[in-house]
Amino acid sequence: MRLPPFTLHRPRELGELLELLARYGDDAAVYMGGTELLLIMKLGFAEPGHLVDAKSIPELGELHVSADRLAIGAGVTHRRIERHHDVQRALPVLVDLERRIANVRVRNAGTLGGNLCFAEPHSDPATLLTALDAEVELAGPAGRRRLAVADFILGALSTALDPGEVLTHVHVPVPGPDTLVGYERIVFTERPAATVAVVRGPAGARVVVGALGPRPMRVPHAEMRLVEDDIDAAVEATSSAVADTDTEPGADYRAHLAGVLLRRAWSAATANALSVPGAAAPTKQG
Ligand SMILES: Cc1cc2nc3c(=O)[nH]c(=O)nc-3n(C[C@H](O)[C@H](O)[C@H](O)COP(=O)(O)OP(=O)(O)OC[C@H]3O[C@@H](n4cnc5c(N)ncnc54)[C@H](O)[C@@H]3O)c2cc1C
Repeated sequence: MRLPPFTLHRPRELGELLELLARYGDDAAVYMGGTELLLIMKLGFAEPGHLVDAKSIPELGELHVSADRLAIGAGVTHRRIERHHDVQRALPVLVDLERRIANVRVRNAGTLGGNLCFAEPHSDPATLLTALDAEVELAGPAGRRRLAVADFILGALSTALDPGEVLTHVHVPVPGPDTLVGYERIVFTERPAATVAVVRGPAGARVVVGALGPRPMRVPHAEMRLVEDDIDAAVEATSSAVADTDTEPGADYRAHLAGVLLRRAWSAATANALSVPGAAAPTKQG
C-alpha cells in the first residue's frame, strides 16, 4: 500500500490553517495523527492533494481542567489524556476509556479531535461524550460555534463540519459527586463491537449505546427507568431499543450485548460512587 502524492502544509496558527483550507477546498484534508487519514489514503478511499498538518497549532494542543469542565484541544492525543493527572482526578472514567483504545502506538499519534471528526461508528469517546453532554467547538470561515457532540456526529463517517471548518476543542462538563457515571465496551478483534455509557445525576439519566449503529444512540425509555433505580427495566428497554434498530442481521445478539453492557456500566458507576466519599449511591443496585 503506497500513499498517493500530496503537498504537506504546516500552518503555525489557526487563521493560517483556515486560510489553507479555504484556498484548497475539497482538495485539502486536516492531518492530525493520521491514524485514519493515512490509512484511507493508502487504501485509495481518499486522495487529497494537500494535507494541512494541524498538530503544531498551539491552541489545538491545549488541555485545561477546572472544577466543573475539561477543555481539550482537538490535537490532544489519547495518550496525553490517559496520562494527565488532573483529568484522572476530574473524570477518571475518561482516563479509563482512553487507556483501552487501540494500542500505545495508535494512542500516541491519534487525537480526540481526529476520533470525533472521522466519526467511525466504533468510537469509544463518542459514546461517553454524548452521555456526558459534551460539546465540540468549531472554527471556520463563518467564525466559531459550539455544538453538542450528539448533534456533531450525524452518521457513519459523517459530521456537522461545514466546508473549511475545523474542530478546535472538546468541552466536557465534570459531573459532580452526586452524579454516577459508567462506561463499558466489548471488543472482539480491533475497536469496540458495542459500547454503553450511563450517567445519572440530579437532572436525570443518560443511557447511550454506541457501535451498534451508525452513531451513538440515546435510549430515553432506559433513562426513565434508571431515574427510578430500576436497572432490570432499563436493561430491558435498552435491549428492545437496539433490537428495534435497522441493524440486521444479529439483532437479538446486539440487543443482548447492549443489555449486558448497560448492567456492567451501571455496576461500574455505582462502584465508583461507593469509592468516592460523599458521593450519592443509588438506593437499589443492579
Ligand atoms: C488499529 C486501530 C485501532 C483503533 N482502536 C480504537 C478503539 O479501540 N477505540 C476508538 O475509539 N478508536 C480506535 N481507533 C481509532 C483512533 O482512535 C483514531 O484513529 C484516532 O483517534 C484518530 O485521530 P487522528 O488524529 O489520527 O486523526 P486523523 O487520521 O489525522 O484524522 C481523521 C479524520 O478527521 C479529520 N480531522 C482530524 N482532525 C480534525 C479537526 N481538528 N478538524 C476537522 N477535521 C479533522 C481528518 O481530515 C480525517 O478525515 C483505532 C484506530 C486504529 C488504527
